[in-house]
Amino acid sequence: MSQNPRPVRGRFAPTPSGELHIGNAWTALLSWLQIRSANGTFILRMEDIDAQRSRPHLAKQILDDLYWLGLDWDEGPDVGGPFGPYTQSERTEYYEHALSQLDEKGYLYRCFCSRADLLAAARAPHGLSSEGPAYPGTCRNLSSEEAARKALEKEPSLRFRVGRERLVFRDGIAGTQTFDAAAGGDFIVRRADRMISYQLAVVVDDHMMHITDVLRGADLLDSVPRQLLLYKALGMESPSFAHVPLFMGPDGKRLAKRHGGTSLAALRESRTAPERVIGWLMWLAGLLPEPEPLSARECVPLFRLDKLPSEPIVMTADMLSRLQGAS
Ligand code: GLU
Repeated sequence: MSQNPRPVRGRFAPTPSGELHIGNAWTALLSWLQIRSANGTFILRMEDIDAQRSRPHLAKQILDDLYWLGLDWDEGPDVGGPFGPYTQSERTEYYEHALSQLDEKGYLYRCFCSRADLLAAARAPHGLSSEGPAYPGTCRNLSSEEAARKALEKEPSLRFRVGRERLVFRDGIAGTQTFDAAAGGDFIVRRADRMISYQLAVVVDDHMMHITDVLRGADLLDSVPRQLLLYKALGMESPSFAHVPLFMGPDGKRLAKRHGGTSLAALRESRTAPERVIGWLMWLAGLLPEPEPLSARECVPLFRLDKLPSEPIVMTADMLSRLQGAS
């Protein structure tokens, strides 16, 4: 029996802790094109779960910058939609609900380790991921009495118990990926200060917002195994993934503020036309032979996931001048 395919839905999910730069614009554009070229529904989700790092004025500026680029969305914090709210800080009840489901199924345990304990334990170079060294499992097998006693002195974080299994998935750009689930270690789903982890929030949100296609930066490729484990544990269907390469500065480091002039705000200030930015991104994506100015809409029929590069894009001075210069 063949199942009806799910209607195509994708999202861009910025964190309002900094201004959007051309690397974010690249991810936003490609994700938008992927969905628009499939006549799907595009969603904007504000990932402000980290209250300490998030800034409301940046959330507003991100929306303005994206609209300036010519991108739009069918559901989002400013336009609403059937699966809202679209701002993570307003969704805590959903995350807590998922946590209680995981807890009931025995996936969670309380962890009392401090950052210092973990640093001291982190000797082995293996098991490193974007979240640091793998957790050595110190609190994994505490008895409930021990945990209760410790809880009188310290607020615990909650960790997800990772089993021994091989995770295989096909990334739309990076190709087939195989991970040893246990290598990353048991991971935090709620911190001791009750902040929900990115991994849990993103899985709950992508599920509840019926996301079928996740296209995002390659820095998150190694988060997929943890997300797949959460989907499975929660009995949810996972989306397809495509991780686009990151922009690097000429020094080989990830493109950042210090490389200068790469924020959308700076480009707007220097009166660069949004069509120029879009055409330039399309050229870097291999979807245009020359960086000629185009509107985002005009690019929709040009999108091809299989044409996108898979290697990091090293930004040379010449490339940047093609964006900023007058040609
Ligand atoms: N909020 C994340 C970021 O800004 C993106 C999360 C995602 O796309 O899964 O890096």
